[in-house]
Amino acid sequence: MMNKKMPVLFVGHGSPINAIEDNTYSRAWSALGTTLERPKAVLSVSAHWFTRGTKVNDSPAPSMVYDMYGFPEELYEVKYPAPGSVEIAHRAKELLGDFVTIDNNWGLDHGTWSVLRRVFPKADVPVVQLSVNALLSPAEHFALGEKLRPLREEGVLIFGSGNIVHNLSRVDWRMTDGQLWAQEFDQYIHRAVTSRRFDDVVEYGRAGEAAQLAVPSLDHYAPLLYVLGASDENDEISSFNTDCTLASMSMTSYLFAEAKA
Ligand code: ZN
Repeated sequence: MMNKKMPVLFVGHGSPINAIEDNTYSRAWSALGTTLERPKAVLSVSAHWFTRGTKVNDSPAPSMVYDMYGFPEELYEVKYPAPGSVEIAHRAKELLGDFVTIDNNWGLDHGTWSVLRRVFPKADVPVVQLSVNALLSPAEHFALGEKLRPLREEGVLIFGSGNIVHNLSRVDWRMTDGQLWAQEFDQYIHRAVTSRRFDDVVEYGRAGEAAQLAVPSLDHYAPLLYVLGASDENDEISSFNTDCTLASMSMTSYLFAEAKA
């Protein structure tokens, strides 16, 4: 019998406040948790662990990282005590290659816990974090995602946490939707993802000026590339939270899941 494949998930996490606020985004994350099969572990590729070199943590009890400033005290009191997994961390390193280093100086940052505390609120699914290597090109990030694909048949949920449009220098905290360029780029990528033109996602510069504004740095964009790399042609693609907010952020999220028999 063939092993059932775990889905692959990309979530636009947006403002850290989504970790504690009850809003349409956080409700969609909670709803997702009620439909997902419980994975053996989560491998989280977080925008907020942007490092020179690719790193993975293998601590049995990863620490909480509060990597955001100027938010309400309540946010710094959030605990997400999910265990880690030595086994899955080492398996990811084995699949990716020897250039990956083990690093337990970081832990779980808000890219990971702001979303997972809604999806798996009991914090009982082991979580391993993988960094986004600042030295790699989009095509190289995609290729690493492809190498992670076998984890899906080993019960691991590959989870990319970032934002397709993310430009902090252009954030307007009063806006509840996006500037036109933000919407344009988000929709451009949406068409490319849903029609499986992944080369257009890797070569996102083809979108023109909107791309320059939407992706000033790869940290929040790259997690999507891992997810696309780990997907395959048998997956059904669905999207949720498909909108922009705060002027320069897209919350659009994608689930790639094997079609139900
Ligand atoms: Zn972020």
